[in-house]
Amino acid sequence: MRLGRIGGVVSAIALAATMTACGSAQKTIDAEASEAAAGGNAGALVGVTMPTKSSERWIHDGDNVKKQLEALGYKVDLQYAENDIPTQANQIENQITKGAKLLIVASIDGTALTSQLQQAADNKIPVIAYDRLIRNSPNVDYYATFDNFKVGVQQATSLLQGLGVDKGEKGPFNVELFGGSPDDNNATFFWNGAMSVLQPKIDDGTLKVKSGQTDFKTAAILRWDPATAQKRMEDILTKTYTGGAEVDGVLSPYDGLSIGILSALKSSGYGTSGQPYPVVTGQDAELASVKSIVAGEQYSTIFKDTRKLAEVTVKMADAVLKGGKPEVNNTKDYDNGTKVVPSYLLDPVIVDESNYKDVIIGGDYYTEDQLK
Ligand code: BGC
Repeated sequence: MRLGRIGGVVSAIALAATMTACGSAQKTIDAEASEAAAGGNAGALVGVTMPTKSSERWIHDGDNVKKQLEALGYKVDLQYAENDIPTQANQIENQITKGAKLLIVASIDGTALTSQLQQAADNKIPVIAYDRLIRNSPNVDYYATFDNFKVGVQQATSLLQGLGVDKGEKGPFNVELFGGSPDDNNATFFWNGAMSVLQPKIDDGTLKVKSGQTDFKTAAILRWDPATAQKRMEDILTKTYTGGAEVDGVLSPYDGLSIGILSALKSSGYGTSGQPYPVVTGQDAELASVKSIVAGEQYSTIFKDTRKLAEVTVKMADAVLKGGKPEVNNTKDYDNGTKVVPSYLLDPVIVDESNYKDVIIGGDYYTEDQLK
């Protein structure tokens, strides 16, 4: 195929030589030459690195990206690192060695890949940050993600809805706040989005953070680990919720943490008709958590359609590999410490008991049977 194209270019040149000063022949040369350039990456290897298989969303992400790239004829090396930073760094180095022509990276620690990305740049390999921004490197070409600030706004909005604050309930309500992994750039976006809604309600006394733990550093859960969240909730319950005080709401930024938080609450006597669970939020619409919403345990989640994120990313990758410019819709919000990375942001959606049928089942994300 490659030879065929080069042959085409050569014969076009010969043709042009015989048809001196002929505009249409010149056009043929340009078209053939750019086709040859675009075809240079046809069937190329794309390296895809995902953080972990311990959370379902990344499995969907990896599968969707791989499937869609393969449908365009690319070869894919898909790796998971089980949240181990050196493993992910090695995987990226291996993909560079194997001759990958583009890298798609969902990082574990967004600050830890500077030298791998430099290596990619030295080899003229473009890099797309997937879902999580890679920080402190000039060598991140594009970023595909959801509107992460909006995710936080939606989590907080849903928490207030669950408490009835949007309908005029005045509280005061006891709430506790959880943040994501501090090395994940998204976590501060989620937190800042959520606090933009919650802080005014804390200030006017509608919400009380009874533990007093209101700063991101204290609330953050390293590597998004459900067991760490469970332990933190248990500690808060034993230290703060004594003498009959009850938790009314918990801001949780991720379904896996919500599961840990709910089990701490369960061990402490919540989850009965006399003492129902507080309003607990989440993120990712993971199967177990959507089931939990249907069962009336977790209150809500934020649905981020991984099929769409894969689609946007694969389109970006394809455009870059063909020497073109991908479509972006944000060129101001995602400064990675070195530069503002051109981004494409998708819209997240609040899902709770009232709309899971429409959004999740209607959107073919899960079937009704899977949710039984
Ligand atoms: C993702 C979330 C996910 C979290 C934990 C974040 O970077 O944006 O969707 O819940 O990581 O995996």
